[in-house]
Amino acid sequence: MGGQISVDKSVQVVIVGGGFGGIEAARKLKCWGVPFVLVDMRDAFHHNVAALRAAVQSGFAKKTFISFSKTFGGSFRQGLVVGIDLEKRHVLLNDGEHLCYSHLILATGSDGPFPGKFDKPMDMQSAIQTYEDMVQEVEKSPRIVIVGGGSAGVEMAAEVKTKYPNKEVTLIHSKVALADAEVLPRVRQEVKESLLKEGVHLLLSQKVENLQSLTLNQFKENMIVKTDKGTEIVTDMVILCTGIKVNSAAYSGAFSDKLASNGALQVNEYLQVKGYDNIYAIGDCADVNEPKMAYHAGLHADVAVTNIVNSLTQKPLKTYTPGSLTFLISLGRCDGVGQISDYYVGHLLVTVVKSRDLFVSQSWRKMGQCMPC
Ligand SMILES: Cc1cc2nc3c(=O)[nH]c(=O)nc-3n(C[C@H](O)[C@H](O)[C@H](O)COP(=O)(O)OP(=O)(O)OC[C@H]3O[C@@H](n4cnc5c(N)ncnc54)[C@H](O)[C@@H]3O)c2cc1C
Repeated sequence: MGGQISVDKSVQVVIVGGGFGGIEAARKLKCWGVPFVLVDMRDAFHHNVAALRAAVQSGFAKKTFISFSKTFGGSFRQGLVVGIDLEKRHVLLNDGEHLCYSHLILATGSDGPFPGKFDKPMDMQSAIQTYEDMVQEVEKSPRIVIVGGGSAGVEMAAEVKTKYPNKEVTLIHSKVALADAEVLPRVRQEVKESLLKEGVHLLLSQKVENLQSLTLNQFKENMIVKTDKGTEIVTDMVILCTGIKVNSAAYSGAFSDKLASNGALQVNEYLQVKGYDNIYAIGDCADVNEPKMAYHAGLHADVAVTNIVNSLTQKPLKTYTPGSLTFLISLGRCDGVGQISDYYVGHLLVTVVKSRDLFVSQSWRKMGQCMPC
């Protein structure tokens, strides 16, 4: 990255959402000396890539929340964005205030069931405590059912089994193969073999039928989970790892004609929302044909900020093209498997690169703060 640029007073970038994409965009704008405000409903960045371990291992949750204001000072504003006035170039907050923008980066990400996701307007200490409470519930439960065998469900099952090898863990998945569809067949097969080796019971090609009547994330003795194939499992805890959905509430009113069917924003090759050269969408809320990943959100942030800087300095814009897939699946602290740029990578490498700390130290470094022990 080059040095700082000088910009006139009319330039003010507003970033909505301080997830992996939002903090990367903020960091880059700070380096370029471009004025910005980062808005998030919470007071801390959530490193949700490690959220599942935080639900199982006591003392880990505090490593997964990082204060925004300590890193971004007055450039951070806590608030829930409830709308965008495209004519006035305002972002509207739920407390009635508005923020003016010359350029807007929408990075509202996605939400899903706790513990994998946690998009509540809650302060950092309460959020950490919510995960610590879950740790207690897991500890109390001898039998645990995890619903959903995508990457999150697989990682959840492995986290529980690694910490508690004697607990009875059952993973129920509606498809035959585990993990995400985009992942190499060899990786998916090895995920399955590793879980079976650890003693996880797999119920594949079955859907849970009575989810509505089950208590989630709490110890409750002798609950009965029923599947569409007639299987019944008696358990003491149910954890849901399905159903990620795009957070579109902030922009769906303003951009009702620019939404993909899942609520993501249609963007062009520069990651500009179609029809707007000063508004960008990045991360999980951008309709880009690739798996929704923190890693991709960071790459998008780089393109969006480069394009804001280039547009201010009359340089050509940078394009974003989805590339080959890097996907690492941790299987507890001591195992993992995955692919880098579409090439299979084995257990040892994934364990060293991802499973040991789930990239938490990387996020603390990026935020320029010391990780608590
Ligand atoms: C359990 C789990 C494990 C994962 N593991 C990996 C992994 O190993 N590697 C990987 O690359 N990806 C992984 N992912 C995917 C990754 O977490 C997401 O792709 C990533 O979080 C997307 O980043 P983002 O910045 O787009 O949005 P998010 O991280 O979802 O952040 C969005 C932010 O916007 C804020 N926000 C939303 N709406 C509003 C509003 N209206 N007003 C104000 N603020 C708002 C939220 O509070 C949140 O802070 C994992 C996901 C899960 C659930």
